[in-house]
Amino acid sequence: MSRSTLLPVLTLPNPIVLLPTARIQLSLDEDVGTHLIELVQRSEVQLVIGTVPCTSPTTIHPWGTAARVVRVVRPISRASQRVYHVTLHGLSRIHFPDTSSGPFAPNELIELRAEYPPADGPPSPESIAPFRAAASKLLDSLAQDATQQSRRDVYVKISHMIEEVSDDRAPWMADVIVAGINKVEYADKLAYLSAAGSDDRLRRATELFVKQASITEVTKKIAQSIDESLSKQQKEFFLRQQLAAIQRELNNLNRPPGAANAPGPGSAPSIGSSSDLDDNEQSEADDMAEIKAKIEAMAKDSEERKMAVREWKRLQRIPSGSVEHGVIRNYLEWITSIPWPSSAAYADVTNNDKLRDRAFLANARRQLDEDHYGLEKIKKRLIEYLAVVRLKQLQAEREARSPSDAIVPVTPPPNSELEGNKASRRRVEGDATSRALALIQKALNSKPTAGASQSDVGANDEVKDRQLVKVPHPAKPPSGGPKQQRGAASKAVKGPILLFVGPPGTGKTSLGQSIARALDRPFQRISLGGVRDEAEIRGHRRTYVASGPGSIVQALRKAGRPDPVILLDEVDKIGQSNFHGDPAAALLEVLDPEQNHSFNDHYINVPIDLSQVLFICTSNSLETISAPLLDRCEIIQLSGYTYDEKIHIANKFLLPKQLKANGLTPEHVSLTQPALMHIATHYTREAGVRSLERAIGAVVRYKAVEWAEYSDSTGITDIAALPSLEKSEGKTYKKVVEEHELEKILGIARWDEEELHREERRGLVYGLVVTGMGEGGILPIETTAVPGSGQLKLTGSLGEVIKESGELALSWVKSHAYDLYITKLRSQDPLKFPEPIDIHLHLPSGAVKKDGPSAGIAMTCAFVSLLTGACVPTNIAMTGEVTLRGRVGPVGGIKEKVLGAHRAQVTKVILPWANRKDVEHDVPLEVRAEMQFVFVRTMEEVLEAAFGKGVLNWRGNMVVMESRL
Ligand code: ADP
Repeated sequence: MSRSTLLPVLTLPNPIVLLPTARIQLSLDEDVGTHLIELVQRSEVQLVIGTVPCTSPTTIHPWGTAARVVRVVRPISRASQRVYHVTLHGLSRIHFPDTSSGPFAPNELIELRAEYPPADGPPSPESIAPFRAAASKLLDSLAQDATQQSRRDVYVKISHMIEEVSDDRAPWMADVIVAGINKVEYADKLAYLSAAGSDDRLRRATELFVKQASITEVTKKIAQSIDESLSKQQKEFFLRQQLAAIQRELNNLNRPPGAANAPGPGSAPSIGSSSDLDDNEQSEADDMAEIKAKIEAMAKDSEERKMAVREWKRLQRIPSGSVEHGVIRNYLEWITSIPWPSSAAYADVTNNDKLRDRAFLANARRQLDEDHYGLEKIKKRLIEYLAVVRLKQLQAEREARSPSDAIVPVTPPPNSELEGNKASRRRVEGDATSRALALIQKALNSKPTAGASQSDVGANDEVKDRQLVKVPHPAKPPSGGPKQQRGAASKAVKGPILLFVGPPGTGKTSLGQSIARALDRPFQRISLGGVRDEAEIRGHRRTYVASGPGSIVQALRKAGRPDPVILLDEVDKIGQSNFHGDPAAALLEVLDPEQNHSFNDHYINVPIDLSQVLFICTSNSLETISAPLLDRCEIIQLSGYTYDEKIHIANKFLLPKQLKANGLTPEHVSLTQPALMHIATHYTREAGVRSLERAIGAVVRYKAVEWAEYSDSTGITDIAALPSLEKSEGKTYKKVVEEHELEKILGIARWDEEELHREERRGLVYGLVVTGMGEGGILPIETTAVPGSGQLKLTGSLGEVIKESGELALSWVKSHAYDLYITKLRSQDPLKFPEPIDIHLHLPSGAVKKDGPSAGIAMTCAFVSLLTGACVPTNIAMTGEVTLRGRVGPVGGIKEKVLGAHRAQVTKVILPWANRKDVEHDVPLEVRAEMQFVFVRTMEEVLEAAFGKGVLNWRGNMVVMESRL
């Protein structure tokens, strides 16, 4: 039996349905809300109302749900119309027998008759089993798909409840689950609401669950397939974006940088702005942008730019991880970092203000004097050289500036050329990259220079900036722009190439540095000693593994300017032609002013203009330098220093330098003059000052340790607070180094022993030599007679020439043996009579190669001494070539030899007559004053000078000329 009762019923708007067991919250109009509150207030128990879904705006569903009013809330804000919120909890189904009495409207509270359906018995087992199965399946799949752990737990819990719930509670469970699924369609919900019988309800719920489960499954499948296709699409989209970006970059390169249609820097993928490429690897992109900027800064139409652009395009096509990519990138880094003379970026840097300075030569002179002691002649020659460089440079600038040959200022310049210079000089400030960037920015904004339509020069920023351009012929586009625009700096200043020849440590390198400082140009040194491979100068071709540019390009890059001073050190030690190519020939190309405007480095593979580079060569001797190379150089000889000069250099330069290098001041250490002289004479014996500097360095370091120990033990850190020797007790520190202390500091002197051994002996004569290092010195020539058969044996690593001159000397002695009373008869061979002997001649330092004819007279003297028994005093040394007739010919290296003899404390030197001028010109006065020179024309004169007048007896009268300075 159904109970019928009159109930306040809330009409629910489509698609809201309240199922039993469910809880909903609704918003109500003010009237409905106040009415409901009145009812709540009037009711003594908790108010129960009916709810009914409105199937259309005017009709209601015959079934609804009785619901308890849990809460009615009146929000504070009165602004909105629906101000009341009501929470309802569904209790049980109700039936409305009278639905035709309408019309009804949603969201109203009306009085309606409602019937509670009679209580139903427990459902049949046939409907329960499929219900349980369908519900479990649905809940499992829901649990699987749930993204939140808490939801998943709820589904699992309900699924367990379904298993455990009693049969008669199954319909209630069905209500709970259906109310809980929020994706159930409106019609299905209404149909389910209408199912009053428990079997009917379970059947419908089962249908609903099956339907829902299949929907979820299908949805999942669809989602999955959508997902797949979506990610494919995304990938495609991404790749297309990349492609577009690459395309854009390529187009950008193809277009001349000053293209008229180039958009503003903001919209163009300009350097520094971020593009799709940049997003991927920012730092990589930055590097690439820098390279790109440098390429853009290269002179238009230049070879190097074409090459760089070509490689850049290749680089864009190659995947970035590949080896090839690395190779090309490395190449691009090199080619863009060379200071190309044609590049506008360097045009202003090379504008040498220093040269224009009227005081240039005076400043240069001062610079040379500051850096070097003495070397007067050399400094004079260098000043001449710098004067020529300056004159040529200024001449070149004048020519470039002269308004003839159709080069005229475009647009009236603001105020003459100087203004322009100022402006351009301002531009130079900042580093090279920002310069390059500025240029590109300008290029992007400006119009191209070529083409008839661009005759509007006023619009061309870049041209205006350079000030001077060739006036274009109206019919012809302007050509060769970059060359014209380079300005005076590009004019090559071709001075002679200087070649400093001299022993080590004579200041060749430091003179080169002084020249660079005087010209205000960067200085680079390339050591050619032992270079056997042409590739070291010219670079390896790019096909070669680990290839790279040669030393010239490396030096240019390091210098960062197209006009550095490059010192080619030890050109005499460069290897000759071999299977690695011909390094000397490569050097020739570098040095030849006719060729070096297009030097070809194999790696760079674009002709490089070296004509602005100032090359200076150094070498120890001239003998091994090839004639073509010598031909290109202006030789400046540095022959070594006298002891006096060395002491001066040590006082003024070496000691202060060493003190500074070791963290001391002149107050800490000083050397007495005798001490310095002792170092120079007993610890070093060299033409230059390298060993002297080393020895002074050793003394300074020794004193540094002493000072540190003293300072640590006494706590005195200020040298000024040093107590005088008398006052101090215990430990003392003595700042002056005296001669007798040197042995303690430097060890036993190196040259003492040899001095003792220079004894007067039969068959021993001292000759003069210049070693491979260009250093002069004395060389003992030892001879001895051994029983034999009249042979001459020569040892001591002798070359062909010196061996021949030994034989020659012996022949001369043999032919004059009778005159010198060696033999009794003219026909006798002195090596056979009275006893048959062999003569053995040896030159010590057997490992050192010796060659040349200059030992001729010394060897002759040695044979005469051996055969006559007369001795040559040890203070005498000699040099000179001898002919078969006994004439003495001139030899080279006189200054070195004389200085060497002076160092060895030789007081009398016998020299060829023809070398008189060399002594007068080259040998310093103080040395000349301390030595006696005997200039000789014939062997007879040599013998008299060597053995002393009257020591040797001559048959017949001999006239001996002696000349003294
Ligand atoms: P080189 O290149 O001829 O082998 P360097 O130029 O390297 O010799 O000189 C060696 C050292 O001697 C340097 O420290 C240099 O400054 C110093 N030196 C050489 N000659 C002089 C000089 N005339 N005045 C001052 N210092 C000198």
